[in-house]
Amino acid sequence: MKIAFIGLGNMGGPMALNLHKAGHEISAFDLSQSACDKLAAEGIAIAAHANAAVQGVEVVISMLPASAHVETLFLGNGAQAGLLALLPAGALIIDCSTIAAATSRKVADAAQAQGVQFIDAPVSGGTGGAIAGTLTFMVGGDAAVLERAQPLLEKMGANIFHAGSVGAGQTAKICNNMLLGILMAGTSEAIALGVANGLDAKVLSEIMRRSSGGNWALEKYNPMPGVMETAPASKGYAGGFGTDLMLKDLGLSQENAAAVKASTPLGGLARNLYAAHSLAGHGGLDFSSIIKMVQKG
Ligand code: NAD
Repeated sequence: MKIAFIGLGNMGGPMALNLHKAGHEISAFDLSQSACDKLAAEGIAIAAHANAAVQGVEVVISMLPASAHVETLFLGNGAQAGLLALLPAGALIIDCSTIAAATSRKVADAAQAQGVQFIDAPVSGGTGGAIAGTLTFMVGGDAAVLERAQPLLEKMGANIFHAGSVGAGQTAKICNNMLLGILMAGTSEAIALGVANGLDAKVLSEIMRRSSGGNWALEKYNPMPGVMETAPASKGYAGGFGTDLMLKDLGLSQENAAAVKASTPLGGLARNLYAAHSLAGHGGLDFSSIIKMVQKG
């Protein structure tokens, strides 16, 4: 099956590579030359632009930063037509980006009007999960469309959930990331408190990991440099999941909460913490760098 893969960043790059390794013919594109070069070095064909990438493909997978990127890519921007205009009836779009559920529904409606299928399939599992092919997919769309996409999702992920109709994958994703933003800030605070009292960060992290405070950050993504060799914290907070992407997701959670009149006080506080951290110049660092806000020095 020939697949166009658009967006080859921290997540999209390794996801496209896993499809390539599984034997799929990939036509890839990213606005960043260095992102394209990395995949070209792995033997993946790079298209000159997004329009060229979708020539003759059955499936388009996108992994872009935010709603505006996805909307413009598929629907165009007035001056320029989007990819949807180039896709034949029967094609399938799998959007793995984390974006507003309303944008997923807008693109899905436009796709449906020309006989193109669409699912929103945002992911969890971080860059480690993208590289290992063990991501969790949260899918919104028709069950029959998910069934068609399933063999591809299985090459990139280990858990595939059908959350509901189009947009439901995005709603599940922002609930998860609101919790992740809160728990990373809380875990950072607890570690910093222990260290301020002279405790060793590694020992304290292990105690909490095996106690009632245990969580994903302590298992796989410790925010303190030197505790976990593979975590972004030990690599100068490079790569991973950017603070500005977490800020976007917390913003989506708060917009959504306002729309349905939900009370999310900790989500609101977390959004403000990551916003302040971004304003302090850390937007490009991995989100676990939030520990800098509460660390001495
Ligand atoms: P990233 O910034 O590393 O990559 C995004 C890529 O999209 C960049 O390489 C950029 O050049 C490219 N791009 C932007 N507009 C484009 C366009 N019009 N055409 C082609 N390429 C374009 O981001 P990422 O960490 O890979 O995240 C991608 C999405 O996945 C985001 O929505 C993010 O919230 C979500 N996500 C990230 C993680 C993570 O751990 N990094 C985990 C789960 C979900």
